[in-house]
Amino acid sequence: MSVDVLPAAAPTRMLIGGTWVDGAAALNVINPANLSVLAEIGDADVSVALSAVTAAHDAFTTWSVTPARQRAEVLRRAYEIMSAEAEVCARLIVLENGKAWRDALGEATYAAEFFRWFSEEAARVAGGFRYSPARDKTIITDHRPIGVAYLITPWNFPAAMATRKLGPALAAGCTAVLKPAAETPLTALWVGDVLQRAGAPAGVVNVITTSTSGDVSRAILADPRVATLSFTGSTEVGRILLRQTAERVLPSSMELGGNAPFIVLAGADVDKAVAGAMIAKMRNGGAACTAANRFYLHESLADRFALAFESALRGLRIGPGIEQGNDLGAMVSVRERDKVLTLLAAAGAEGAAIEPILDAPQTGAFIAPYVVRDVAHGSTLTRTEIFGPVAPLVTFGDEDEAIAMANDTEYGLISYVYAADAGTGVRVARRMESGMVAINRGLIADPAAPFGGMKESGLGREGGFAGIHEFLETQYFGVDL
Ligand code: NAP
Repeated sequence: MSVDVLPAAAPTRMLIGGTWVDGAAALNVINPANLSVLAEIGDADVSVALSAVTAAHDAFTTWSVTPARQRAEVLRRAYEIMSAEAEVCARLIVLENGKAWRDALGEATYAAEFFRWFSEEAARVAGGFRYSPARDKTIITDHRPIGVAYLITPWNFPAAMATRKLGPALAAGCTAVLKPAAETPLTALWVGDVLQRAGAPAGVVNVITTSTSGDVSRAILADPRVATLSFTGSTEVGRILLRQTAERVLPSSMELGGNAPFIVLAGADVDKAVAGAMIAKMRNGGAACTAANRFYLHESLADRFALAFESALRGLRIGPGIEQGNDLGAMVSVRERDKVLTLLAAAGAEGAAIEPILDAPQTGAFIAPYVVRDVAHGSTLTRTEIFGPVAPLVTFGDEDEAIAMANDTEYGLISYVYAADAGTGVRVARRMESGMVAINRGLIADPAAPFGGMKESGLGREGGFAGIHEFLETQYFGVDL
């Protein structure tokens, strides 16, 4: 079998109402490592998309009152299937997204964990009972599933972004229509299949694929049977969707873009900071909303950090992600690769020295890593979400100055702080305007932790104890007992 052949069991048709259906037309999924066509999949138009809403709406009647324990067991089985078939999942991710095998396998495991976490959360939703302060009534609060959830996911984590939404939605008793990114639909279709095999009743999970996400999403969000939107993607598209959800005053959870600062304070362990930077910058080839986007280095260690970081990057192997010895795979598409090259050209025009650390393969959507030294805060690379393996380095002298530069952005998803000790790290973390702060670590995402951003990086939290509440409506009963 050729290495870039899809796993035999990978579905390519859409999942609607428990059956696999074709679209009105077809669209191609491309392997970014060699630009070959991996598969032809269905292309939903508005009427196909609305049939998925109908299926989800019909299934809600039963699923919303299915005992939480039973819903939990479906998710638990889905976790077990995904864990047992993690290599199938990783293969799909690599083939359509391009990332390195190790990153894909890590994502497959992380994705499965959302099903485990929310299988545990399903049975833990607690209402409330208390007396009003005047003791004239009792206050009973209940949480009920909100209804049909529309879920939109990006291409950079095709498995984990799907399970991070499907897990809590199904645990809460909601039914779902999932629309993955056009570049990476195959992993999402496979996740739909996993849930079917785990026992999700027909219509509880529907997965549609389309080349016209704008038209399809507008129609879905205008449909009164749809009760909530959960979106992960760019801030730009998030804003478009928020305008549409405003029309129906629809609850919207938004996991949007980032521009993460990575601060290395005086006295920090440089080797540890470089090891963290290799993860925070290079995981997924830099195509992560949590990717370290700009590095602020104290002047006492900036040169040491730059040398050690460049040396670590020089040790990476670039090549097709399906070959397991490669550390850095392809970007998702030539278009995304070219966006990063355009940013580098802009930085060059601003006076930065742009030299690749390694040679990248010429075929496919590959890009070499770059370290750009002596970057000025406020320049293009520090203002833009790079989404590729480019690390701009800025030097600072004073901690307050570093914090001010780090917070000088409309984004607020995550910050990284390396400090001599955890106490200093936490003190600085409290001043960061971001929903998450990694202290002396390069990776903190965890299904048990609340993931989400401040400022224009989003609304709401996924994972943790908060995640399920994005899919629950609170109802209050004032009772004369
Ligand atoms: P994107 O262009 O915003 O697309 C995300 C999703 O929205 C895709 O499914 C896309 O479908 C769909 N979409 C695009 N235009 C739409 C429209 N007008 N109406 C409805 N849906 C629309 O983002 P991306 O390039 O896939 O992903 C990268 C971005 O996601 C980055 O900004 C990154 O920071 C962010 N992200 C955030 C998080 C987080 O948790 N905060 C996690 C991962 C990624 P099509 O593919 O069909 O266009």
